[in-house]
Amino acid sequence: MRHMEPTFDTVVMKFGGSSVADAEKIRNVARRLVAAKERGLRVVGTISAMGKTTDGLVALAREVSPAPDPREMDMLLSTGERISNALVAMAIHDLGHEAVSLTGSQAGIETDGAHTKAKIRHINPHRILASLDESKIVLVAGFQGVSAVTKDVTTLGRGGSDLSAVAIAASLGAACEIYSDVTGVFTSDPRIVPDARKIARISYEEMLEMSASGAKVLMLRSVELARNHGVRVHARSTFSDEPGTWIGEEGMEDAIISAVTYNTQEIVFTLTGIPDRPGAAATVFDMLAAEHVNVDTIIQNTVHAVAELSFSVPADDAPATRRGIERATEVLGAMTVDEDAGLAKVSLIGAGMRSHPGIAAKMFRTLADGGINLQMISTSPIKISCMIGREHMESAVRSLHAAFALEREPALEESARG
Ligand code: ADP
Ligand code: ASP
Ligand code: MG
Repeated sequence: MRHMEPTFDTVVMKFGGSSVADAEKIRNVARRLVAAKERGLRVVGTISAMGKTTDGLVALAREVSPAPDPREMDMLLSTGERISNALVAMAIHDLGHEAVSLTGSQAGIETDGAHTKAKIRHINPHRILASLDESKIVLVAGFQGVSAVTKDVTTLGRGGSDLSAVAIAASLGAACEIYSDVTGVFTSDPRIVPDARKIARISYEEMLEMSASGAKVLMLRSVELARNHGVRVHARSTFSDEPGTWIGEEGMEDAIISAVTYNTQEIVFTLTGIPDRPGAAATVFDMLAAEHVNVDTIIQNTVHAVAELSFSVPADDAPATRRGIERATEVLGAMTVDEDAGLAKVSLIGAGMRSHPGIAAKMFRTLADGGINLQMISTSPIKISCMIGREHMESAVRSLHAAFALEREPALEESARG
């Protein structure tokens, strides 16, 4: 069935760091924005920092200070996007069009005060709208906003330009296009699985699980916001015109399994010697929540009235996790703390899992056949994740992709569900 695409008079076009890595690429992005304008659209560009600028700034801050002040970190990191947006505006001027670049604050992006992982609270798009009314292409620095309370510059978390773009699209009622160095969302990271296949349409639900389990092609929170506001996102290539992937209410494919993802950016903490009484786990996770730690997989075991608790957190949250554990110790007494940074999580995602038993068994069998030991397992209705040794990550991803034949278009009979 052909879906009727709604028509929009405004488009938000987001370009990632690799799309603006050098001067020629900046001119290319300017040409794409101008081409949209010449097709009659009102155009907002949201540009990430050039290449690996943000990584460089993070590394520089850590060279200067082992635990950089979060407010100053945001002052520093937000400069990357100011540079690239200003440069794109200049390149647009040279193509004979008017353009204006705005910081997140100038664009009216208001956030809470959680530096380096701020949440967007509200957008006042009047300045964007005024410039669009003047027929300008508006460039909004992605990844940043301003705290509604302190008026300090904030950043939205790594990959946050995707979130900026979706939020602006939602506030303008605009179409949202996310341009990057891949042609869309694939059945696995094409850098690891050369025969990964582009997915034409994927549901918010599946995309959320993919982003949550490591597929960085779209930032998790951008998918959440898109789902909450019904923004259909078109993820596509900066370097070609081919159609990309549509993320929306419905996936087109009735595949049982849609994708294999991986995450090598997590650390597993294990706490032993926790008293086995009601409230012990609550205390640990309260303290972690107070430090804004995003806990993923959790496993608890109890032997002889002493509990052992393992959980994974993003590597970036490790210092905050240590602080949280420290505070939990003050309440619960001393415990042994182990950290394992040598693991990777591989995940299998598919809405069809709900109605097809045996997927977990096939996944575990495939990994076992590759001699891969499973350290932790977690599931959701449409995802199974296994924590394994990091040295096995690539072979695990490739063998799972092959075992579930994800390189092939899903066969018609597979679509008969329930
Ligand atoms: P940008 O800098 O444009 O925001 P990212 O590097 O954040 O781009 O995201 C694009 C990258 O995501 C690709 O280069 C690809 O290696 C990686 N990736 C991981 N999983 C997937 C997937 N399932 N489909 C497409 N790309 C993926
Ligand atoms: N420049 C920021 C980062 O590298 C935001 C983004 O690229 O989306 O995380
Ligand atoms: Mg990104």
